[in-house]
Amino acid sequence: MLPEKLNTKKKVIEALKEENILPASAMSPNYKYVCFICEGCYEAHFVDKVEHILCASPTKFFFKCSGENSHGTRKTEGGFINLVSIKYKFLKGHQTQIQWYCETKLFDKAIDSL
Ligand SMILES: [Zn+2]
Repeated sequence: MLPEKLNTKKKVIEALKEENILPASAMSPNYKYVCFICEGCYEAHFVDKVEHILCASPTKFFFKCSGENSHGTRKTEGGFINLVSIKYKFLKGHQTQIQWYCETKLFDKAIDSL
């Protein structure tokens, strides 16, 4: 199933309430060579290079990207938040799966009203 783009504050709030949210310091996504394809900017972001602003158990991260691709062409103001689950699979290593994503400015509004 494709990750859903949450496009209203209400949807983001509802999705956040489904998660067991932890502070960013709770876990560190320091996995080498593990990346996800950002649903917002279509770039591959390495999980140990992109900022994570919150965590959720088990091993999910709210990654914040700038919204700018490597050519600087598709620039989206404020960037995107992707909620990414990272799981270890035997012989495959760490696998990433995006749960949902939204624009950072919408995410910030939702967090403020929680
Ligand atoms: Zn991105």
